[in-house]
Amino acid sequence: MTPQNPPILLIYTGGTIGMIENPETGVLENFSFEQLQKFLPELQLYAFHIDSLQFDPPIDSSDMAPDAWRRLVHIISEQYDRYAGFVILHGTDTMAFTASALSFMLEGLDKPVILTGSQLPIGVLRTDGKENLLTSIEIASARDDNGAPLVPEVSIFFENHLMRGNRTTKINADNFNAFRSFNFPVLAKAGIHIKYNNLRLHPADVHPQLKPHYLLDTNVAILKLFPGIQENVVTGILGIEGLKGVVLETYGSGNAPRKEWFLNCLQRACRSGIVVVNVTQCNAGTVEMERYETGYRLQEVGVVCGYDSTTESAVTKLMFLLGHGYTPEEVRQRMVQSLAGEITL
Ligand code: ASP
Repeated sequence: MTPQNPPILLIYTGGTIGMIENPETGVLENFSFEQLQKFLPELQLYAFHIDSLQFDPPIDSSDMAPDAWRRLVHIISEQYDRYAGFVILHGTDTMAFTASALSFMLEGLDKPVILTGSQLPIGVLRTDGKENLLTSIEIASARDDNGAPLVPEVSIFFENHLMRGNRTTKINADNFNAFRSFNFPVLAKAGIHIKYNNLRLHPADVHPQLKPHYLLDTNVAILKLFPGIQENVVTGILGIEGLKGVVLETYGSGNAPRKEWFLNCLQRACRSGIVVVNVTQCNAGTVEMERYETGYRLQEVGVVCGYDSTTESAVTKLMFLLGHGYTPEEVRQRMVQSLAGEITL
């Protein structure tokens, strides 16, 4: 690296990585980026500049919402030409939702946008935050021999693994190894060397134009099935006024009860223009609605296949497509296409 290398922009939104224990209550609370930097003298050692921006006040990611996603998209698109890549410090709880949403909102992205955070605050001796942040910065600045960024997409780096953002799920509230990409291989693995898997969304010599999107429609819901689910629960959710999209979390390869009332309810919802997407409750694997009669019946009443989508990706993709004013049929068609590598067809 030479000092001429283009700089990286670090965007601090909040999360455990930048929290400190309140001495009176013992509760973890956010603190500012200036305080955070004191624990990171290593940031001065890179051969390129690292600029920073922070959400003021920083937020616990439980408070993340579409407005904050729009803000991130705005920052990235405004600063796009100035930086080689972007690292977003974010709470782990909803990081997979933010990564999924950004992957759709930043159409044509050709630079790395890496989300990372930690399970222990940066001020704690055993923190995982330093490792996660420093390696994320290194990956964000990594380029091939022709100067093209190695991972020009929205990703999550956590505990040595770089994962496609819209394939990732938080799986553990305790372990440092908190995220997993069950249905797609990791993009890179960090050991002594960082090994890249070269799973590009687009060929290295193709350079798309960034097209930021801000429109999202939050009239969506997630309906998780369980044995014994009552009719009034299903009708209650599907009958919500203004509802436009539902992620239906089914069993196994996309199966659901064959009860008459259940299928009628779904049929009514689909006919009224609500887009219902079938994703599996299983961590790994894909929905195949033609495999069992139970899944086939869902297809017959108008439910759309979510393939191997995570719930986080399906719900944010629905918000994104519905936000663009497509008709229900157009949304259904796009739900079964890969927009940003989020499903395997
Ligand atoms: N509650 C925190 C957050 O998501 C947890 C974390 O960062 O790990 O903001």
